[in-house]
Amino acid sequence: MKAILIHHHGGPEVLEYADFPTPGPGPGEVLVRLEAAALNRLDLWVREGWPGLKVAYPHITGADGAGEIAALGEGVSGMSVGRRVVINSNLSCGECEFCIAGQDNRCVKWELLGETRRGTYAEYVVIPARNAYPMPEGFDAGQAAAAALAFHTAWHSLVTRADLRPGESVLVVGASGGVTTASIQIAKLAGATVYAVGSSPEKLELAASLGADYLIDRSKEENWSKAVYQLTGRRGVDVVVDNVGTTFPLSFRAACKGGRILTVGNTGGPKFEIDNRFVFGKHLSLIGSTMGTRQDFAAVMELIFAGKLRPIVDRVFPLAQAALAQERLQRGEQRGKIVLDIQP
Ligand SMILES: [Zn+2]
Repeated sequence: MKAILIHHHGGPEVLEYADFPTPGPGPGEVLVRLEAAALNRLDLWVREGWPGLKVAYPHITGADGAGEIAALGEGVSGMSVGRRVVINSNLSCGECEFCIAGQDNRCVKWELLGETRRGTYAEYVVIPARNAYPMPEGFDAGQAAAAALAFHTAWHSLVTRADLRPGESVLVVGASGGVTTASIQIAKLAGATVYAVGSSPEKLELAASLGADYLIDRSKEENWSKAVYQLTGRRGVDVVVDNVGTTFPLSFRAACKGGRILTVGNTGGPKFEIDNRFVFGKHLSLIGSTMGTRQDFAAVMELIFAGKLRPIVDRVFPLAQAALAQERLQRGEQRGKIVLDIQP
């Protein structure tokens, strides 16, 4: 098969479009012939490497993908060759206390496809059968791949962890990323009023097209918490979606008393100072989460398939141009998700 291989960590130049033996599914696994994959920031981090990350070279990155079942491993039932599927990239043991409790994204052996196991920047990928979720005939594989990780993550954070209720107000910090565009849509679908903070009029236009009710341009209002405070009649918002991290001081100010601050990432950097007086003084809850459960995946993908939620696809690159695609993501030029077209 054709795949994007990395033989050592580094910049986009280490991504090599080459031939690699097509893997075979082991017991309980399936082989998926991919039609599309989608990029995530994690792909860049895995490519660059971090202390403690151990991968078997050549490695193949990529968590998101959709296609059809090409072969079944021993003991796999309830699935057939040719069935179209979208991949849930959360790999879990199915046996630990968290898996048994339905919290498989807290699995003690949790890992993400493409991080330590070979992923979706390839014509074929092997995954556990339970990570293949049925996709309707005729549904665009690029849309499904673009939706999977971002919407799954946003759903788990807003709905499962924060228990978002109709009538609440949600501030989304960022207006154009995969998880932020998903968060805006999920918050609207849940019946919330949405405030979006974006870095440019173009990015805010996208947020508006997804249903954001109030737009705040941070290139004009550096202290955007003040704008939120004014827009909410000095109340603040119920929920802040902050996946930047370094913006927590502003998010704490923008939250109402008893507000919840959600975070699933740290695009602004992992370490920063917080003023604890806001946390106790305003009765704030800081809610962290990563990825989502199998139940969340089913819930959100059915809404995607029904057209109630719509992944924003920035641009589609052929698999061979994965390096160009990653450079675009690294420069932060994208609006929504970048997709790799694998088999036209
Ligand atoms: Zn487990």
